Amino acid sequence: MKSNLHDDWDRLHLWHPYTSTLSPLPTYMVERADGAVITLADGHEIIDGMSSWWCVIHGYNHPRLNAAAKAQLDKMSHVMFGGFTHAPAVELGKMLLEVAPPSMHNIFYADSGSVAVEVAMKMAVQAAVSASGSHEKTNFATIRSGYHGDTWNAMSVCDPVTGMHGAFGSALPVRYFVPQPRSRFGGEWNPAEIEPVERLFEEHSSDLAAFILEPVVQGAGGMWFYHPEYLRSLRKLCDKYGILLIFDEIATGFWRTGRFFAWEWAGVEPDIMCIGKGLTAGYMTMSAVLTTRNIADTISRGEAGVLMHGPTFMANPLACAVAVESLKMLREQDMQSRLAEIESAMKTGLEPARALPNVTDVRVLGSIGVIEVDRPVDVGEFQKRCVARGVWIRPFGRNVYIMPPYVISDTQLAKLMSEMIELVKELPDYER
Ligand code: PMP
Repeated sequence: MKSNLHDDWDRLHLWHPYTSTLSPLPTYMVERADGAVITLADGHEIIDGMSSWWCVIHGYNHPRLNAAAKAQLDKMSHVMFGGFTHAPAVELGKMLLEVAPPSMHNIFYADSGSVAVEVAMKMAVQAAVSASGSHEKTNFATIRSGYHGDTWNAMSVCDPVTGMHGAFGSALPVRYFVPQPRSRFGGEWNPAEIEPVERLFEEHSSDLAAFILEPVVQGAGGMWFYHPEYLRSLRKLCDKYGILLIFDEIATGFWRTGRFFAWEWAGVEPDIMCIGKGLTAGYMTMSAVLTTRNIADTISRGEAGVLMHGPTFMANPLACAVAVESLKMLREQDMQSRLAEIESAMKTGLEPARALPNVTDVRVLGSIGVIEVDRPVDVGEFQKRCVARGVWIRPFGRNVYIMPPYVISDTQLAKLMSEMIELVKELPDYER
């Protein structure tokens, strides 16, 4: 029988995310995955609670997405986007503008979420410098506990403490951080929360190009859901002080929060928006950055005359073709009702966790369910127990959370949540 656990060669030579080469976390050999089920090498099946980090929205191995990829493969898997264009890129762009905030007009296809953030930041700098004529207007502000990716500039706007990038210290550009909004989504709004932003803008509007943040849901920086009024107030201040607003919707997009994009909860539009993850339903790496016509043209009127970015795999046709099919699938279903169903099942299913002595908070929004515990979780040990119980959950810090594929069945979701609660009950047995 093949082993479920690590492969020795893999353990010796392959880096896995955030894993020590001296004492690697366990990794499990996956044979295949279908719907919301991942099958390990020995045939053991586990229910996926992670959507492979937010992206596998329609579940694994979907016949329609497979067919779209195969059909495109037989035409061309890639062609350079410099000087060429192709139907999947055009069709995807049209479909994205139908679901994006109305003022979005120009689309830049990029390689990954982190690269989308880099591109968005470059857009903001080029636009701000072009509009103001000042080479000073190049810095960024953000809220604490955010997460925007692992490349250099993306790292610089992640939370300096929880953002996993403390190791880089002074090597990173220095950004402005304001406190995390603490008014909860669905709770009371405290207007004082926006005051630090106004104080910052009063002092630094001349050197700030943009404010970047994840709308409503902060993902990998803390799994926190905050009040949409923060975004409305922030939009007003950005307008007042001439600072661009960037929404990073890489994790929140494609219905994850119960709306197509999370900006809809606040009803205010960004100037620049990053999307990724669910864009290709987890089939391939691709992201996009959307902006207004005015910003795109302002960049083009600037010194460089063009947006200074152009990756090799830009608008990869295979990725675009799968993204088009995925968007069609979203369009054909009543996603708002589907997400409301998942949300209500999660609210009921996770409620019992609130009574546990080591649980400090339970929160649910759309298809994101979080149990916050009183101390950091030992991921390796937790995951061993997960696999034994037939579920897949990967906590970070004090957050044990799930965001399953939308195709998960009621019974699978019920099992995922009951095992999650059992796993949280066991945490004190192996505290770090
Ligand atoms: N922004 C957000 C909000 C994210 O959650 C992530 C990934 N977790 C990224 C950016 C970076 O995306 P990628 O891992 O595709 O580079």
